[in-house]
Amino acid sequence: MSRLSGKVALITGAGSGIGLESATLFVKEGAFVLACDINEESGKKTVENINKLFPSIDGKARAVFCKVDVSKENEIKNAVETAEKLFGKLNIVFNNAGIMHPADDKRTFIHEYSISVQINVKGVWWGCKYAIPALRRAGGGSIINTASFVGKMGAATPQLAYTSSKGAVLAMTRELAAIHARENIRFNSLCPGPLRTPLLMDFLNTEEKKERRLVHVPMGRFGEAIEQAYSALFLASDESTYITGTDFLCDGGLTSCYVTPL
Ligand code: NAD
Repeated sequence: MSRLSGKVALITGAGSGIGLESATLFVKEGAFVLACDINEESGKKTVENINKLFPSIDGKARAVFCKVDVSKENEIKNAVETAEKLFGKLNIVFNNAGIMHPADDKRTFIHEYSISVQINVKGVWWGCKYAIPALRRAGGGSIINTASFVGKMGAATPQLAYTSSKGAVLAMTRELAAIHARENIRFNSLCPGPLRTPLLMDFLNTEEKKERRLVHVPMGRFGEAIEQAYSALFLASDESTYITGTDFLCDGGLTSCYVTPL
């Protein structure tokens, strides 16, 4: 038995990094996936590669692309409807898409702040809002919202908009978990540490910037997207049926460590 056998999942940000690895892993573990991304080219590529690796079942492709900008409520609503229409139900929603605005440092302005909140917070909220009735129709399910370790601790290399947005994801997810706990709908936040994906590597574009962060990571390396995908898989699967409302840290020990090894 595969770990997500027969489940249907919707994943946002599936064109790159965590979303791409999760879409592939979820299908490998038996799920059908609606792979959503604002970037049509990379999203379609994800789906093409998955469908090359994993043959269709009863004529149904294992992964389907859906163009979604999570900052637009109607596009998320449409994605949830599409998943149910195509696959007959929806069991798992992974609200993973997010941005790190390049101008979001100590000079953060209202413009960067608003964009970050629109995508990282409202995008997740709408993903939850439309997922809840769909998961209820399926008899329950699992919602995973990607936050970040930066929602748990402060940094002297500030990204005020990003950090605030991820703190909001943690608080929102916790509250939704409490509200829906008796409906068999679970909500957990995934809190990745710093990763070797385009999102962070484009931002840390010098060795000095990378080193400034790495010195604080006990494992001494950036994380990989696939390591996050395995965490998401656990939270999505029935192996975690008594886990809801957690800030699930997958951070190389970063948030537990005061002094790192030499
Ligand atoms: P990534 O840049 O590799 O992938 C993000 C994907 O989201 C891209 O395919 C992009 O096209 C898509 N996307 C961006 N805006 C979108 C929108 N409005 N609508 C739909 N799709 C959109 O990044 P990643 O590292 O895989 O990050 C995924 C999540 O993990 C994000 O929420 C990010 O904040 C979070 N995170 C990342 C790190 C890190 O170090 N990379 C650390 C902690 C948390």
